[in-house]
Amino acid sequence: MRKPKIVILGAGYGGLMTTVRLQKHVGINEADIVLVNKNDYHYETTWLHEASAGTLHHDKVRYEIRDVIDRSKVDFIQDTVVEIKKDEKKVVLEKGEVQYDYLVISLGGEPETFGIKGLKEYAFGITNVNSSRQLREHIEYQFATYNMEEEKNDNRLSIVVGGAGFTGIEFLGELTNRIPELCHEYDVDYNKVKIICVEAAPTVLPGFDPELVNYAVSQLERKGVEFLIGTAIKEATPDGIIVAKGEEEPREIKAGTVVWAAGVRGNSIIEKSGFEAMRGRVKVTPELRVPGFDDVFIIGDSSLVINEEINRPYPPTAQIAMQQGELVARNLAALVRNKTELETFTFDNKGTVCSLGEDDAIGVVFGKKITGAKASFMKKVVDNRSLYMIGGAGLVLKKGKFNVF
Ligand code: FAD
Ligand code: NAD
Repeated sequence: MRKPKIVILGAGYGGLMTTVRLQKHVGINEADIVLVNKNDYHYETTWLHEASAGTLHHDKVRYEIRDVIDRSKVDFIQDTVVEIKKDEKKVVLEKGEVQYDYLVISLGGEPETFGIKGLKEYAFGITNVNSSRQLREHIEYQFATYNMEEEKNDNRLSIVVGGAGFTGIEFLGELTNRIPELCHEYDVDYNKVKIICVEAAPTVLPGFDPELVNYAVSQLERKGVEFLIGTAIKEATPDGIIVAKGEEEPREIKAGTVVWAAGVRGNSIIEKSGFEAMRGRVKVTPELRVPGFDDVFIIGDSSLVINEEINRPYPPTAQIAMQQGELVARNLAALVRNKTELETFTFDNKGTVCSLGEDDAIGVVFGKKITGAKASFMKKVVDNRSLYMIGGAGLVLKKGKFNVF
């Protein structure tokens, strides 16, 4: 009898979690498992702010996929997904195509630019290893060039961060630790450096605990960040950005580096493949399938799951993507054994920790507020936990964070 073929697209948190659980749950004679990913490595998206600021080398945030998959059970294809032809049960790749009986789409998200002019051309993103490496290099280039020019251009030393969500704040935490090192390395006067964070909402980290937000803002301000709250980026230009606050006239802020960290949407492959989506995210069924397509599961940043308590979507996080991956692996094991009853997804929110550099953080864990060294320790526990869940103790020893004191 022909074995069903399970194809998993994307080796991020959701896809890798599905794969490593599936290789445990399903026997070699029960199904063929194929994992497709653009790169031969997985990167910890949740550590990219560190690689982007240059406080952690980009090789520390990635590891080889083949180190965590069982190659006797999983066929790994390094290729880029171009389109999903759901009616033909086929995935088109750059270098070929692959048929499936069951598909898991876990391709992550993309920056949401809301159609703002100039962002794609002139702003940097914190999206993957390539973009992080480019951003780190760009900032360093600005510092290195500053003293090369006869007429000093102080704008080279201005960095604008668009968005004070968790990504923007975590990046600022790393950046404020990195700047004194860069000043020292390139003989630049620290007082010439400007770091400006522009946030459209009336507060930093909208929706998060106000006491913790105040702590984060005062810590970052102390380290030199200027916050422009209730101010939206309207345009990015070769020289900086145009911002507007309420009814005030738009104004220009000159900056050599503009970082766009103002939100994510689902992967563009979703809309390109004709799935009904909201900002690239598909509202999945309780079993995490696409309505009308029982053979297709979507998890992670391209899926949309409603928090029934507040009737709003859960924010896309690694935490939810991994929990979805665990459930999908169990549901796929049931399907290949011809069981029709599948488990439904319930998010078990363990909390949120937001780093403010390597040595400081804020968080709510199991309902308790934490700040400072305690929160920073917790953040490293969370980082190591995701390594452990995917690659066990060996991966934690290889890539884990042990600088806890
Ligand atoms: P990803 O982990 O992004 O993986 C997607 C994978 O698909 C990647 O390997 C990518 O290379 C691959 N891929 C994409 N397109 C293609 C294609 N066309 N063909 C082939 N392969 C493709 N969440 C938390 O819970 N806690 C945190 O502390 C946290 N910190 C964060 C910090 C930063 C700086 C950022 C940016 C995000 C953070 N998040 C955090 C959010 C979290 O990283 C995402 O929600 C999570 O990565 C989503 O997982 P995913 O599996 O959907 O996608
Ligand atoms: P986000 O959507 O959470 O925050 C984006 C911020 O940008 C918002 O505060 C928004 O008001 C602001 N913004 C939007 N348009 C703007 C404009 N034109 N000008 C200025 N500001 C603008 O996005 P994110 O921070 O990238 O986070 C993405 C997801 O990843 C979220 O679900 C988040 O929870 C998760 N994440 C979690 C952590 C963590 O748990 N430590 C860290 C990073 C990201």
